[in-house]
Formats: sequence, structure tokens, C-alpha cells
Amino acid sequence: MRKNTFTSNYTIGDSAYDEIGNICNIYGKKAVMIGGKTALSKASEEIKAAAKESGISIIDTLWYGGQASFENAEMLAANEAVQGADMIFSVGGGKALDTCKILTGKIEKPIFTFPTIAGTCAAMTSVCAVYYPDGVFRDVYFRHAPAEHSFINTKIIAEAPTKYIWAGIGDTVAKAYEPEFSSRGEKLDFSNTMGVTLSSLCKEPIFNNGTKAIEDCKEKKSSEEVKEVVLSIIAATGTVSNALEMKYNSGAAHAICYGFTIFPEVEENHLHGELVSYGVLVQTMMDNNIEELEKLIKFYKSVNLPISYKEFGVKEEELEKVIEKACSTADIEQACMKIDKETFRNAINKLEDFINKKLV
Ligand SMILES: [Zn+2]
Repeated sequence: MRKNTFTSNYTIGDSAYDEIGNICNIYGKKAVMIGGKTALSKASEEIKAAAKESGISIIDTLWYGGQASFENAEMLAANEAVQGADMIFSVGGGKALDTCKILTGKIEKPIFTFPTIAGTCAAMTSVCAVYYPDGVFRDVYFRHAPAEHSFINTKIIAEAPTKYIWAGIGDTVAKAYEPEFSSRGEKLDFSNTMGVTLSSLCKEPIFNNGTKAIEDCKEKKSSEEVKEVVLSIIAATGTVSNALEMKYNSGAAHAICYGFTIFPEVEENHLHGELVSYGVLVQTMMDNNIEELEKLIKFYKSVNLPISYKEFGVKEEELEKVIEKACSTADIEQACMKIDKETFRNAINKLEDFINKKLV
């Protein structure tokens, strides 16, 4: 039984780092900054300057090791500067942030996250995806709590490659549909109800601002629309995922995404969020919700998210393998309907018919 529910603490804006002093000062005066190489090159100077302004010294800057692994967390835990620091400033994308969440969970120090891309909600969730050093998925790790606070610099995020926010949108839209799909008909407690209720924030800001936000990111321009979409990707998804029990946190959309990962060329050429976004269409068709499906397809076309599995280079005769893998995942165990191979097959075929009729 869960004891704790966390909501997201964050500062967002082009000058989000100016708040470092106001938020971090009560935790101490010495921080170690740990992150990805690109992320550090984009953000470390600005973080250092803002920290200095508020009397916090960055006693060392370290690379996180390149993979979100227990091994890298251990390597960092052995570092003298880390041992002497009052808190950890974690800078980068999901893997760097997750590594620092594992580290600070184990050594029991406060962590502040500085996401430099908006690809996942790692900056605000307590859950971490853990990999073996060779990149194979290993397990999930739950920190006792999410990061103390997240400083989201929209200027830095808007300057990052657009593919991250684009795929982040795909993964976030799934969070708008999967919790409701998985929990429908169940008697939910307060925390789960909060998660399902807030999950609408994983689509409305995106439908309303997503197209403009992507255009702005292509021009490396921060804007109100970028801010709204980034909050949906990081804060809404983070809060929803922290509030929900694990079994309501996923669904058929993720199952079909994992199905496609059996083809290495699909894994290599397509991002997680892109595959999941297609899964959302399959799940919505499974649910026979044509009204939502039309909304989704209209939005996907405006931002170039996939509407057919053929866009991944997968052929019709290869679908059976994808479906088999999807059916083997735990993601479909908790759902508002019984899901088997036939359910997937029907939904995928009906979706193809639907888009082909719509496209002509
Ligand atoms: Zn996902």
C-alpha cells in the first residue's frame, strides 16, 4: 500500500534559474552538478552564475556516465565531491536525471533537476528506468520521492533538437488516455482519482498549443506555447504518474510500442514517444472512440506524428509478431476490456481502414 503522494514542484521560464537561491538555500551551500555532456555545455554556465549569485557554490561538475545504470550511480556515490556536497544539481535528459535520482535515493541527499530537453517526465517523477551498462533495460527503481524541485529553462529547451519535444508530445498524449482506459470501472481512491482527473492536462495544452510550440522550437524560439507544452510533458505527466498506482500508469498504447521494438531498425530509427503515439490511436480504436480518434488524427497530421504502422517501415505480414510481443507485456493486464491478439488485430486493421477512407 502506498503511503505518499507527491505533486510537482517547479519553476519555469527563460529565467527559471534565477530562483535557485530562493528554493535551494535552505538545503545548504555546496552543490555538485552532474549531467550529460551536451546538457552541461548548454546549461552549466548559466546555472553556475545563478548559484553564485545566491551564495551556493558548485564544488564540482561531473559527467553522469552515459547510461542510467546502478553502476554509474555507484561510481558517482564514490566521488569525494559528491560525498561532501549538500545537494545534487542534475542536468540533462531522462537518463542523466534518472541516474542522479538513483544516486540521491541511495546516498540520501536532496536533488534538484534541470531538464534541458522535454522528452520525458523524469525531472518530476520518483520512478527511474534503469539499464545495464550495455544499454539493455534492467528494472525500474523508485526513489523515496521525486526531485525536491525542478528548474525548467524554456529557452534552453526551445534551443534543443525539436525531435525531443515532438516525441515527448507523443508519450505525453498516451498519459491522457492510458490511465482512464486502465482504471475505468474500478473503484479508485483519492490519489488514483487525482491522477486520472489530472491526466486531461496531458492532452488539452498539447492539442491547443502543440503545433505552434513545435514551429517555435524549430526556430529555436521560446514562447508561451512552448511553456504550456513543456509543462504538459514534464509537470502534468510527472504529477499523474506520481499519483497513480503502477498498474494504472500504462496501457495498450505502450504495449503496442514495445511490440514494435522487436525490430531493431524500428527501435533505431524511431523514438519511444513516436511509437507510443501510434499506440494511442490503436488503443482509441480498440475503445471505439471515433470522436477522440478524429481529434487525435487531426492533431497528429499537423505535427507529423505517425498515423499508420507503415510509417515505421513495418509490413502487414510482420504485424503478427508485433501483436504477439504486445500481448506479452504487463501493460495490458489492467484494462477496461479483455485484450488479446484478436483485439489488437481488429483495432490495427480498423485504424488502417479508417485513415485510408479519411485520406482519400
Ligand atoms: Zn512512455
